Amino acid sequence: MEKLKSKFIGSLVGLALGDFLGAGGRRYTDDTAMMIGVAESLIESKGFNGENMAHIFVKNYENEPFRGYGPGPPRIFRMIKFGRKWNESLDKEFYPPDGSFGNGAAMRIAPVGLLYYDDLVKLREVAHRSSRITHSHPLGIEGAALEAYAVALAVKNEPKELDRYEFLKKLGDFVEVDLYREKLEVMKKLLKEGAGKAKVVRELGNGVEAFNSVPIAIYSFLANSSFETTLDYALNVSYGGDRDTISAMTSAIAGACYGIEDIPREWSDKLENKDYIVVLAEKLWETYLEVGSCHGGKAK
Ligand SMILES: [Mg+2]
Repeated sequence: MEKLKSKFIGSLVGLALGDFLGAGGRRYTDDTAMMIGVAESLIESKGFNGENMAHIFVKNYENEPFRGYGPGPPRIFRMIKFGRKWNESLDKEFYPPDGSFGNGAAMRIAPVGLLYYDDLVKLREVAHRSSRITHSHPLGIEGAALEAYAVALAVKNEPKELDRYEFLKKLGDFVEVDLYREKLEVMKKLLKEGAGKAKVVRELGNGVEAFNSVPIAIYSFLANSSFETTLDYALNVSYGGDRDTISAMTSAIAGACYGIEDIPREWSDKLENKDYIVVLAEKLWETYLEVGSCHGGKAK
């Protein structure tokens, strides 16, 4: 299979699989449901359209309200349904004063990292704007941008040539919030010393806040060297924390690096709606070839 296509499919199937296994292996949850919404909207609009994405979120939520959504999004969806604009900082009304810094924007961001993997300016812009539909706190938004960029870097890197310290350095150059830059420094130290899992959890966190989950997801990817060991590691360090989301964010990065061929079939064959997620990833890849590449034209 074409390498880039395999990476797109690996990332979205990976995300869903991490969510699915992290949630107990019966159903995937809101992480995958909302990632599907992001991908559907990027494909349908050939790029970002906030109004369209917000309404797809609402439609998907109404079709499948049982996906384990947190308390915030359904309230936002109701406001949008009754006419509120997508970028009116809705979450500030119930997470005052600055909105939510949970990982709800980061958990679904992988399609943005894929579509704009070679256009950093656009990646940041769309990561921020798509996050704003549900999250307006700078830490929630920056966490999503960081996760998107980690997915993008994973697309660009071949597993055998992956330089983990260079990967961290690039993330550090990209990120605009000190708290994340500090966590990237901690990750460098933990990698160097080959820290045990308990220490990793203690220093990076494994909770629902974006800054306590995006870093450990990136770290789980960097501390391993195959899709299988990466997801296994993520399921381990997120135990007792935000397991489905951390495993989803980790596997989205790992899948983007290793490609679909490296995801064990005995795992992916059990995944709910796998065929649809594969089709969606293929369409996102086609959208990239059409509009997503750096110079606006066909990719080479
Ligand atoms: Mg979830």
